[in-house]
Amino acid sequence: MASPGAGHLIPMAELARRLVELGFSATILTFTNLSAPLDQLLPSLAASVATAALPAVRMDDLPANAHDGRVLVELIRRSLPNIRDLVRSINNSSTGAAPLAALVPDFLCSMALPIAAELGVPGYVFFPSNLAMVALTRHIVELHEGAAFGEYRDVAVPLELPGGVSLSGADIPDAFRGSFTNPRYSKLVELVRSYRLADGILVNTLYDMEPATAEAFEQLAAEQAAGASAFAYPPVFPVGPFVRPPDPDEAAAGASTPCLEWLDRQPTGSVVYVAFGSGGALSVEQTAELAAGLEASGQRFLWVVRMSSLDGRGIRDDDDPLTWLPEGFLERTRGRGLAVAAWAPQVRVLCHPATAVFVSHCGWNSTLESVGSGVPMLAWPLYAEQRMNAVILEEKLGVALRVPAAREDDRCFVTCYGIATAVKELVEGGQKLWRRAENLQKAGAHAWSPYGPSRRVLEEVAFKLKAALGREK
Ligand code: UDP
Repeated sequence: MASPGAGHLIPMAELARRLVELGFSATILTFTNLSAPLDQLLPSLAASVATAALPAVRMDDLPANAHDGRVLVELIRRSLPNIRDLVRSINNSSTGAAPLAALVPDFLCSMALPIAAELGVPGYVFFPSNLAMVALTRHIVELHEGAAFGEYRDVAVPLELPGGVSLSGADIPDAFRGSFTNPRYSKLVELVRSYRLADGILVNTLYDMEPATAEAFEQLAAEQAAGASAFAYPPVFPVGPFVRPPDPDEAAAGASTPCLEWLDRQPTGSVVYVAFGSGGALSVEQTAELAAGLEASGQRFLWVVRMSSLDGRGIRDDDDPLTWLPEGFLERTRGRGLAVAAWAPQVRVLCHPATAVFVSHCGWNSTLESVGSGVPMLAWPLYAEQRMNAVILEEKLGVALRVPAAREDDRCFVTCYGIATAVKELVEGGQKLWRRAENLQKAGAHAWSPYGPSRRVLEEVAFKLKAALGREK
């Protein structure tokens, strides 16, 4: 069950594909509300996996200014009766279908876990993000252990997560900086507490990207099993990286062709790829600074320009993001830079020999895709857990440089000078980062090789699920 968003659906589809390879059949449940741009994406994701769209639910009564997280949680809550009906119909033995082996909601859909319990099947939560993120949720649950409903406790900073990731206040995802004044926090505590209903948590990461955190979790699980810890949390399973393999058909998909063709004409290892995922939008002012920074850097670039954030004002579906670029920018950079509107075939771009570095918002899928291609990053985190990801990439793995934040009041703002300097530093002098990125790429490729660690971990989970099915017969 994948919550709306390419960053959730793509890795879920890859997990489902792997489970099919291990002998299961898989159906991905998607939400009709909020998923419209994914309609075209879905069929190409995993041919071996079935999909079922949940009926749309009424959402127009929510306040117009409801934040995205609240809308998502509300969408999932209102869809629960439909989820129950759909899962029951899939599990209905009278249809001749195989019995349900497990229900796997993603981290935002964990409200559906009681349905697994009702049906007597295992429930596993899927995290499209990393182990550090799971550690953060574990910390929140532990912090509120024994607390009455509505009694919220502040997260102390710096926050030391198991495995040695240390987060300053600014690097803790906004929603996790708990306090009475943060309206999202109550919903978050409710959500992360529900993870405890799971039999396990499948995580889209690999041991080599978070070795100390993986070991810390093993240690915690061992203590729990030995009865040495009063606090119980589901075991975690690092089973990634789930990165969509480049789809040969994508090249034929109209709008994406020009940027791959353009890359074909650039020298090897020369292009700075700039993209902020499916949701990252810069302000008009920041867009202008980025444009000026790329121009001043003198480097070749491929920039996926998304619609500027105008606080929701005045954006129409047919607005062209390229019209927000500074006047004359496209003409001045013609030949050495290409700006494309809204979307590029990212995995293919990152795998292209011309691509040198990735200026990224550090969404976890983008991160794994960059790692999978051996491309170092200029980390420009914008929201959600991206600042934490940037800490892991820069401080723990050494495959990224962070862009220099320029303003106290806006941690994401970077000046033209900051961008130009960081881009040049990385392209011209980032040998150490290149080497580490190459090593990590090898580890990523090994994770799902025949005896790779992530394959082995998912095989163990599959073995348990099959054994449980066998006991039921
Ligand atoms: N993506 C893409 N083309 C784009 C932007 C994004 O194919 O122009 C894909 C990207 O490859 C990744 C996903 O969308 O698989 C974005 O997920 P991520 O976790 O990086 O960021 P989010 O969109 O969730 O912020």
